[in-house]
Amino acid sequence: MAGIVVVFDFDKTIIDVDSDNWVVDGLGATELFNQLLPTMPWNSLMDRMMDELHAQGKTIEDVVEVLKRIPIHPRIVPTIKAARDLGCDLRIVSDANLFFIETILEHLGIRDCFSEINTNPGFVDEEGKLRISPYHDFTISAHGCNLCPPNMCKGLIIERIQASLAKDGSNKKIIYLGDGSGDYCPTLKLEEGDHVMPRKNFPVWDLICRNPMLVKAEIHGWTDGEELEKILLQLINSISAEESNNNTAQLISGDCKLQIISAAAAHETLPQALPVPQ
Ligand SMILES: [Mg+2]
Ligand SMILES: [Zn+2]
Repeated sequence: MAGIVVVFDFDKTIIDVDSDNWVVDGLGATELFNQLLPTMPWNSLMDRMMDELHAQGKTIEDVVEVLKRIPIHPRIVPTIKAARDLGCDLRIVSDANLFFIETILEHLGIRDCFSEINTNPGFVDEEGKLRISPYHDFTISAHGCNLCPPNMCKGLIIERIQASLAKDGSNKKIIYLGDGSGDYCPTLKLEEGDHVMPRKNFPVWDLICRNPMLVKAEIHGWTDGEELEKILLQLINSISAEESNNNTAQLISGDCKLQIISAAAAHETLPQALPVPQ
């Protein structure tokens, strides 16, 4: 097991579009979406849109059919499988919703590659309507981060992952991949030794470029799935190589200690010089 946790954003990182927009456009509700957008938070609007679409006679099967046609770069699925095979712990942190993400991952045959999906809850109710709720219930309390939308602070999720890694005492490195402005807050939480892979010329890239000194992790920009593959697999290999060098160094220093101990032990058991008679 490699000592690496790879955290992926979903929209425009794993898939090449925004899943919310893809479903709204695919079911012909773009105009209504744009009308309502200025009146409520994005996450609440998606729940409202599912309600509207259901009222118009669109079924959950229609939603699934649209999701199955989602565009994805051909190198993404092989890259995710390769990272999994190299022993990385793969997780998702996304402001989409669980129903969209799981439907797409299952369709692509990569649901099992991920140990954790952190996203807005999404479930089909008894009427067959998709209900989407906020990851963080801001009607009860605010999460207190002014960089993030009210329903989700991805930085808090990264802090939770970091705390659980620290508890294990595993010294695992994090590689974070994302494109959006919501990926900036978690980027700032990464530590030295971690890596961030922002998508070039997308909002998170622009935010990082304004003041790269604020980011402690190493920064590796990418533009498409092909570049994502090359950079991610190189990073995993070099972190793993470093790790095994450290292990070897520890083994060697362990051996040295053993030699010192055995030398000392040997010394103690050396026969005492016999007193020379005067
Ligand atoms: Mg995104
Ligand atoms: Zn935040």
